[in-house]
Amino acid sequence: MLNLVLFGPPGAGKGTQSEKLIAHYGLVHISTGDVFRALNPESDLAKLAKSYSDKGDLVPDDVTIKILENEVLKHPNAKGVIYDGFPRTNAQAEALDKFLEGKGDSISLMVALDVPEEELKTRLLKRAEVSGRADDADPEIIANRIANYKRQTAPVAEFYKAQGKLRLVDGIGTIDEIFGRICAAVDKV
Ligand code: AMP
Repeated sequence: MLNLVLFGPPGAGKGTQSEKLIAHYGLVHISTGDVFRALNPESDLAKLAKSYSDKGDLVPDDVTIKILENEVLKHPNAKGVIYDGFPRTNAQAEALDKFLEGKGDSISLMVALDVPEEELKTRLLKRAEVSGRADDADPEIIANRIANYKRQTAPVAEFYKAQGKLRLVDGIGTIDEIFGRICAAVDKV
């Protein structure tokens, strides 16, 4: 199986590139952010997740890991999976390794999109015009998301680097240029 972690700060282009990767490699796309947003808004779980995401904070690991595992189990015949927005903490990365190991599987590669902070802020505010996401529209929430990324999420790259699975990709350029760089990394697996 081809199991890709698509990694990078909010606004790096993970969702956009995921769409192209799914089509190109025939993979299942799992975005924990999308899963949280698709929950029945009246459910306790949705309310809990929203109480964190509205502020730009991460949803607690135990909840997020359970959600992710349930999502993976919905696709027993997948050729491979793109993990988009997960893992976002070292605890999540360890849980994912253990979960996949239990299925005789593992992560193939982490592709980390590298985009400067100013560009992220510009992209997120622009995305807010079409996404309707409150967490994209407010500069303070954006700043908190980026701060949380640096503090809690960036260290996850080291986790995969230690396993020899990290590939850094320049996330500046046209969508197709960036996609070409990602494919070049993936095709070497
Ligand atoms: P995203 O769509 O990836 O930008 O995620 C939107 C929000 O959902 C984040 O700001 C978090 O509040 C929550 N979220 C998504 N994925 C995770 C994760 N792996 N761990 C914790 N919280 C997450």
